[in-house]
Amino acid sequence: MLTRLQWLKALPRPLRVLPGQTVRRCFKSTQVTLNEGKRGPSAESKLALDGDLPHIMGDRKYKYSEGQVYHGFQCERIEYIPDFELVSCTLRHLGTGTELWYIDRNDTNNVFSINFRTTPFDSTGLPHILEHLALCGSKNFPVRDPFFKMLNRSVATFMNAMTGPDYTLYPFSTMNEVDFRNLQKIYLDAVFRPNLAYLDFLQEGWRLEHKELNNRDSELVIKGVVYNEMKGAFSENSQVFIQNLLNNMLPDHTYGYVSGGNPLEIPKLTHTDLVKFHQKYYHPSNARMFCYGSFDLLKTLAFVDSEYLSEHSRIDNSYSRIPNQRPWSQPRNVHIPSRLDSLGATFDRQNQIAIALLMCDSTDIQESFELNVLSDLLIRGPNSAFYKSLIEPNFSGGYNQSTGFSSDCRDTYFVVGLQDLRVEDFKRFNELFDQTVHKTIEEGFEAQHIESILHNLELSLKHQSPHFGNALLFNSTSLWNHDGDIVSSLRVSEMIAQLRCCLKENKKYLQQKMEKYFANNTHKLTLTMSPDEMYEENFKQAEAEMLKQKVSALDSKKRKEIYTNGLKLEASQKAKECTDVLPCLTLNDVKEPPKLPTIETKTIVDVPTQLCKVPTNEISYLKCLFNITGLSRDELVLIPLFSNVIDDMGTSSHNFRDFDKLVLSKTAGFDFKLNFVENVKDAKSYQMGLMMTTHALDKNVKDMFALCEELLLNYKLDDTERLKMLIENYISNISVGIASSGHLYAMLSAAALVSDAAKLKSLLSGVDHIDFMKKYVEQHSTEEIRDRLKAIGAKVFSKSNMRVAINTSEAFQATALEHYQNFLQKLPTLKDMNKNNELKLLDPSFQHYVMNIPVNYCAKSFFAVPYLHEDHPVLRVLAKLVSAKYLLPVVREQNGAYGAGAKIGSDGIFAFFSYRDPHSTKTLDAFDKTYDWLLAESNKLDQQTLFEAKLGVLQQLDSPTAPGNIGIDFFLYGVSQEMFVKYRSRVLSVTLDELRAVIDKYFKEEPKHVGKCILGPANENLEEETKLKWKIIS
Ligand SMILES: [Zn+2]
Repeated sequence: MLTRLQWLKALPRPLRVLPGQTVRRCFKSTQVTLNEGKRGPSAESKLALDGDLPHIMGDRKYKYSEGQVYHGFQCERIEYIPDFELVSCTLRHLGTGTELWYIDRNDTNNVFSINFRTTPFDSTGLPHILEHLALCGSKNFPVRDPFFKMLNRSVATFMNAMTGPDYTLYPFSTMNEVDFRNLQKIYLDAVFRPNLAYLDFLQEGWRLEHKELNNRDSELVIKGVVYNEMKGAFSENSQVFIQNLLNNMLPDHTYGYVSGGNPLEIPKLTHTDLVKFHQKYYHPSNARMFCYGSFDLLKTLAFVDSEYLSEHSRIDNSYSRIPNQRPWSQPRNVHIPSRLDSLGATFDRQNQIAIALLMCDSTDIQESFELNVLSDLLIRGPNSAFYKSLIEPNFSGGYNQSTGFSSDCRDTYFVVGLQDLRVEDFKRFNELFDQTVHKTIEEGFEAQHIESILHNLELSLKHQSPHFGNALLFNSTSLWNHDGDIVSSLRVSEMIAQLRCCLKENKKYLQQKMEKYFANNTHKLTLTMSPDEMYEENFKQAEAEMLKQKVSALDSKKRKEIYTNGLKLEASQKAKECTDVLPCLTLNDVKEPPKLPTIETKTIVDVPTQLCKVPTNEISYLKCLFNITGLSRDELVLIPLFSNVIDDMGTSSHNFRDFDKLVLSKTAGFDFKLNFVENVKDAKSYQMGLMMTTHALDKNVKDMFALCEELLLNYKLDDTERLKMLIENYISNISVGIASSGHLYAMLSAAALVSDAAKLKSLLSGVDHIDFMKKYVEQHSTEEIRDRLKAIGAKVFSKSNMRVAINTSEAFQATALEHYQNFLQKLPTLKDMNKNNELKLLDPSFQHYVMNIPVNYCAKSFFAVPYLHEDHPVLRVLAKLVSAKYLLPVVREQNGAYGAGAKIGSDGIFAFFSYRDPHSTKTLDAFDKTYDWLLAESNKLDQQTLFEAKLGVLQQLDSPTAPGNIGIDFFLYGVSQEMFVKYRSRVLSVTLDELRAVIDKYFKEEPKHVGKCILGPANENLEEETKLKWKIIS
């Protein structure tokens, strides 16, 4: 989870949710931070009105008053927070003591969440499995997995449940009030009155089961959704590292355990333990509720009170409180093994190291805020001390994933670590760390550097995210969990002002913090990790040993039970059930398309420009899209690298350090990205673009354009040493995270077998990109690469290739356009690179990427129809239907994959996928049998099923857009608002007959242009099991 400061910068926060219906629920392992800093008495939960709290409403009249009771909830504290234009209102239920935090804000994307403080004392994954089980049916909604079923009966903009190291939360957001009330009912019933059925425990947690269900003599194996999920989670080395860092850094209490579950420990959990844990930890007195947005609070209070809380009395919840970690008197060293990553660096370089230091109590919000700023000063960007000392000497693949300040637990901690380095360099890392700390204490920080960091923070406060409510929830959850002052933590400008004041009064303010937290801190962990060729084998052996013990302990009665439970579970999975008890939206609730602001297009100084006036909160957003379709293939393949380094090398007027300071003190920074667009009308051609994005406060827009001009006209790539380092870090970073988004990579690779455009896309951003870039760098000198990159910029950055989109407030648009025109006057006019590449479809082929991981990611893709074809919306509805009614029940519930689904992209490619899947060929087989299933179901399809599938599509179509991104579909893909509205109403009007027609048209015969791809462990029987010829890539 991101830290509090990071989220401000990172809005919109990249929610850890994968698209489609796969992975709505996610387990989050986490980082932590701590220190022996100011450790006041642990914050007691405040009972009733303390009297001494700041009541900062001023003269504002407000609809609620402190001290008043509303439906059993007493209002304790009301404050206006100008930074985010919201009113915070904290209430407490008089009967149970449950806290409810209401954030009143003029935002239609409303959020509700129920959080519990859950502190496990083993690694069986108890809170995680309970999180899954709570969503498997409850008293009022006794259907199997109402959570997944609601995905298709709602237009939620977010629905999830997550387990953290010491909390479990159940959040959702939606813009529709009927939907909000519906989901609230389901969620509250799920957590307070779940069925926690034994069969669900077997399905979601773990079970022994016969390999062949109907054969008592077949061998027994361990199955279970969470069991597989965690095997998958820890197939990513960076996850293993982060989890171990937490466990070893704060070992004394609950953080010493794996809350998500260690696969080898999960089978120690019993159903009885789980039920007991629920009774204890899901008591209303141990719950916190969060309510955000513009819907009526009183309705929520009345419902929560009368339906759930009124039947409970208050208990003392101190049992779940977490004490501070006792600081160590001596630093510690821990070494762990990892699996050899077949896509990663060479064996001798596949090591990681990090130093973690305990910081302050997370409830000390000002200290925690300042340490976060300090951490940024030390780590972020080319002016930071650790970047200079650890990254620039170029003996690693850059910072590892654990690097940063973590405030996700009771104590905060700072981590700096490197990936892809040699064991011989561990010593060097340690020496450099110490030297850097001492040097920084001696020399201090540069004022302009501090300013650039603080400016960036202030800018992020103004930036509007459509998921602001969710971001606020996620980033307050930990502090709230430890009874910290969540309301004051929102007063970011005040914290910045206080820090500025301290810096002014005491020139050595930050150096003194360095001394305390870095130089004189004995709670210091050095964690190292190296690949072990036996890792996977050792795990398999340990798993086999555990299975053997379990099996040998079985008596005949237990064996019989296992056999019958297997059959019962299968029967219950296959049973048709009535879901009428679940609420559902109606057509009337969703008929109206969302209101869209007007988009204007103009030609300004020969450049096609798209303008949009939206309330942007004093920020101007700029997107420049350069057409690069005319580049040669040799040039195109370097675009991802070019995008990565172009703004990191300085310009002819400013070296890279000064340029970085300048950029961060005036803008949010530059972002360059490759953009790939298939023709939405006929899918017979495609174009490629390079998009530069940035935004700035209105008052800095003139400087923003000056910086754009400086970069585009005077970028400098001459420093080959630096370029070499950036390239090597780039290579290290592209191979991180494959396993956690494996289904996306599998789909990219499967699509690459369908058309040459998708093949190029995969080469530029898929698994193929990693291998390609590794070889490319081996075969070309840095000087050669430098010259090629230089040539790309010289060809691309011109008016003749450019289209621009500017989103500003109405009041500022004229001024912004003035600066924009000046900027355009300076840009050169070069050869037009506009060109359409013809798209070629390919013959069927099949690819297996052999990876050293214990789960598979499978995909099957085929070419269907382009976005504007009349069948596209029908196929999109069908994809939702197939996902919910066929793939999830079969691939997930019956076969044990963590997720599965189907989708059709704007490129016209229809794809099936599975996520963290114990099977491969069996799953591909299920994909192939879609038509058989559809045929069998065809007569049973009813209006409700069809409507639910439509709602699934609407969730995507109507999801809220950030002010800076409004109009982006028109800008990038040429999809106008009229086309969108037409597409949307076509989705709503799809009939059962139309659905049947596309089923016959696209699924009856094996498609002409199809590809299948597996990312996963070696499988010798692949060809035999599939009767297909596979290309094996290892
Ligand atoms: Zn999970």
